[in-house]
Amino acid sequence: MRITALAGGIGGARFLRGLLHHLDRSGTAAEVTVIVNTADDITLHGLRVCPDLDTVMYTLGGGIHPGQGWGRDDEQFTVAEEFAAYGEGPDWFTLGDRDLATHVVRTRLLGQGMTLSQVTAVLCERWRPGVRLLPMSDDRVETHVVIDADPDPESPPDGVVAPTRAVHFQEWWVRLHAAVPARRILAIGMETATPAPGVLEALRSADVILLPPSNPVVSIGTVLAVPGVRDALRGTRAPVVGVSPIVGGAPVRGMADACLTALGVETTAAAVAGLYADFLRGWLVDDADAALAATSGPGVPGQPVVRARPLLMTDLDASADIAAAALDLALELRPTADAGR
Ligand code: GDP
Ligand code: CA
Repeated sequence: MRITALAGGIGGARFLRGLLHHLDRSGTAAEVTVIVNTADDITLHGLRVCPDLDTVMYTLGGGIHPGQGWGRDDEQFTVAEEFAAYGEGPDWFTLGDRDLATHVVRTRLLGQGMTLSQVTAVLCERWRPGVRLLPMSDDRVETHVVIDADPDPESPPDGVVAPTRAVHFQEWWVRLHAAVPARRILAIGMETATPAPGVLEALRSADVILLPPSNPVVSIGTVLAVPGVRDALRGTRAPVVGVSPIVGGAPVRGMADACLTALGVETTAAAVAGLYADFLRGWLVDDADAALAATSGPGVPGQPVVRARPLLMTDLDASADIAAAALDLALELRPTADAGR
């Protein structure tokens, strides 16, 4: 069985760790390909940092900081202290010593002319994540957020547009805690980006496609915006089944509500499903949103099967049970001709 998933960082990684655990404990043979958001990537201290790729790689490879959900386990910050002593910013994004080694290796290989896909494959030789990890694109795409230039603007006179400025997504998310309203969310470089090698093929040839509970705007949303990806999802014969990151009207962690608000989309499990309406065939929501199951349809785009179950990934078994439910629903939705395959 070929399973393809899209993913951001923590929500994607925890779901995928659960998926691999489920496949292992049930003795199901499957090849898993993961297409990871790279629009959070940022250059710091001259080093290319890919937070979502690294979170998935460290989580599945056994090197993640367990409580935090991102960064390395057993981490120290000696180099960060030295950067601070030089006044070398930014002071709002700290890289640990172990983590820095990853970015140094990546940056050197990119500098030698390797693509991000090739570099990711090299890094995965060490981490052996048990999945094929693909960046969504080898081209540089970066999410930037348009915010008000003046944090405390007086309303400008009629006819005068309030000044705005754009900051890198990480500055809005990490430094400003997404507390400053996002007027717009832009994916710089997206129009000319192409999917990384293997991405479209992994969507077209998959038996099932899973959307973990990753951020619908700045994780799944950016992967979907890579030219060709959305069309491949609409055209594939594989059923697409998603897991809601929104439980009871709020993100389980992080500030996805601030991203949805920027798009004028409500922070509800139903509204997130609406963002995927043109290809989504199955949707898992939390028991807190069980009322949505009354809208369950026949399992076609626009009318997905909706099922309610507990969706908190509190530990590995809970994550595995959620992944199992998503996979089971996808298998139910496969064309009947495939039933015995
Ligand atoms: P990021 O790139 O590190 O922000 O991670 P993702 O985009 O992959 O995932 C972030 C999303 O995961 C957030 O919107 C959370 O609501 C969601 N999330 C985190 N933990 C859980 C959980 O236990 N259950 C569900 N359903 N969603 C979760
Ligand atoms: Ca991310």
